[in-house]
Amino acid sequence: SHPALKYHRIVLKLSGEALSGADGGFGIQPDMLGNLAAELAEVHALGVQIAIVVGGGNIFRGLKGSAAGMDRAQSDYMGMLATVINALAMQDALEKANVPTRVQTAIQISQVAEPYIRRRAIRHLEKGRVVIFAGGTGNPYFSTDTAAALRAMEIHADALFKATKVEGVYDRDPARFPDAEMVTKMSFDRFLTERIGVMDSTAATLCRDNGLTIRVFKMATRGNIKRVVFGDPIGTIVEA
Ligand code: UDP
Repeated sequence: SHPALKYHRIVLKLSGEALSGADGGFGIQPDMLGNLAAELAEVHALGVQIAIVVGGGNIFRGLKGSAAGMDRAQSDYMGMLATVINALAMQDALEKANVPTRVQTAIQISQVAEPYIRRRAIRHLEKGRVVIFAGGTGNPYFSTDTAAALRAMEIHADALFKATKVEGVYDRDPARFPDAEMVTKMSFDRFLTERIGVMDSTAATLCRDNGLTIRVFKMATRGNIKRVVFGDPIGTIVEA
């Protein structure tokens, strides 16, 4: 691998919106996927071991279903299945960019993906395959952010890369306060109180309690993933 890398094994959390291309957008935009895959191919070529956790919010979100009267657990299982659709789309795009991949799901869907097996996932990474984790944690009432934190700890990733719509974590909601300022470095405790809109508290708590470094940065800026793997201080760094 490249000698100047700061992070050698990463978990990248992509929300469903990263695949739909628009804020609150629905479905999958093939050109968004193509751009993302090209960027990931560059990072992969540096020798970075990449695991991806995909969200499903561009297709279905459990909370929305339950707000409309559905049973929450039932609705959450639908959300987990949505992440599988995104994972297969991401896999297709990566393979078109000549990056070898495996999809592992937390809910068995054995015709299209492997089941999640921790040791096997690590082996794939060591062999240079990008592993896409789908189905979240496999449990309702959780989020794919929590799945990303959990998988990152399980595979001993150096950091959790959380790609977002904004540049990082702000001291106030940047959508409401135009003078909100981005914080470049913060402690886990501060992150827990100010992470609103970036990550849910279950995911954030898991990162804090296990000292998992989080790098929050803007998804839409081409080259950002590469900047972060080289340790450029962009976005927000959350660490002990
Ligand atoms: N989900 C779940 N358990 C998990 C992960 C996800 O039940 O461990 C469901 C939940 O309903 C969620 C949906 O899957 O709304 C899609 O995931 P998420 O909202 O995290 O996707 P994102 O916001 O990242 O697109």
